[in-house]
Amino acid sequence: MKNRIGIVGGGQLGRMMAFDAKKLGFTVTVIDPTPNSPTGQVVDRQIVADFYDKKAIRELGKISDFLTSEIEFSDSKILDELSQKGVQIHPSAKTFGTINDKLEQKKFLRKAGLPVADFIEVETKDDIQNAAKNFGYPLLLKARFDAYDGRGNALIKNKSQIDIGLNKLRRKKLYVEKFVSFTKELAAVVARSTKGEIVSYPVVETIHKNNICHIVIAPAPVDKKVTNKAKRLAIKTMQHLKGAGVFGIEMFLTKNGKVLINEIAPRVHNSGHFTIEGCRTSQFEQHIRAVTGLPLGSIEMTAPSAVMINILGERQSPAQVKGLEKILKMPNVFVHIYGKAETKNERKMGHITVLGKTVKEAYNKAIKARKLLMI
Ligand code: AMP
Repeated sequence: MKNRIGIVGGGQLGRMMAFDAKKLGFTVTVIDPTPNSPTGQVVDRQIVADFYDKKAIRELGKISDFLTSEIEFSDSKILDELSQKGVQIHPSAKTFGTINDKLEQKKFLRKAGLPVADFIEVETKDDIQNAAKNFGYPLLLKARFDAYDGRGNALIKNKSQIDIGLNKLRRKKLYVEKFVSFTKELAAVVARSTKGEIVSYPVVETIHKNNICHIVIAPAPVDKKVTNKAKRLAIKTMQHLKGAGVFGIEMFLTKNGKVLINEIAPRVHNSGHFTIEGCRTSQFEQHIRAVTGLPLGSIEMTAPSAVMINILGERQSPAQVKGLEKILKMPNVFVHIYGKAETKNERKMGHITVLGKTVKEAYNKAIKARKLLMI
């Protein structure tokens, strides 16, 4: 039986994927440059190496039947080489290729007839000024590559801020996007199996602070029509994208009820952490099922509502968890600590999920629980 999984990236996403892979009897090896990484702590073996270390990736390929990733990895040459040797790789180099370049991703979405904010490739200050003539200010200047948690974005409110934006993202390949004055941000985690079966988890609202996901509310407290629209768009995205595995689809809800796609993440997603306790099959188990050719599981919620709050670091020091005793006395509250040795400002150190009869009940309890915990 093929039961060996290799994961590229040893952070919290790999760790939570590994818990479910182990539950289903797989052996797991992870590759990550940090010894004893969050995933390394819970798997059979960690190869300590950089993600782009060809020798190490080949070694991982040799001892894996299935290869997947928790990061946006796309050394397409080495992935092609391994897939020719019989390793099943999901998402594929082609899928990563479409997603990794945010400009190509936007072009792909537009070509598929999916609604996105207006955008255009830019190189110079003149290009940005020309774009502003069409789109108006404010504008979002965005890096095409290696941009996550808003790190590759610069908001340009008027002409005088163009230089500041260019300076912030200097030497990067760029594009600009029309500013969307959204009322809420929504997201849907979608899974596609190797056989083409697609399921979408309930659409959630995501609340960001400083461009980092802070709170996730499931189901999103919006009109059912909006949820249905968002779900349809997420499924349509996957029908066009074709890759196997779990994907996060981030969306904007505008004042006049339009839903636009902001971004696709080719991996398990922060907006889906609530599924561990909040749905019959967690997004992590779903991903393992999807990439190993197993049938997908039920995405039904286990409670009327679930609220997830991230535990973000608030200082720089060795990590030490305080307050667990109090939180663990609270019913329907679930704590996840990622095992990172060092706390840093805004670093994702863990998360708390609360299940409740109503969104309000779960939300208030999540805020209360978060205040009890220090890390
Ligand atoms: P991104 O990394 O591009 O998904 O952007 C991070 C965050 O920036 C999003 O979650 C939004 O809060 C905000 N953002 C991104 N693009 C836009 C846009 N076109 N208009 C308004 N806000 C945006």
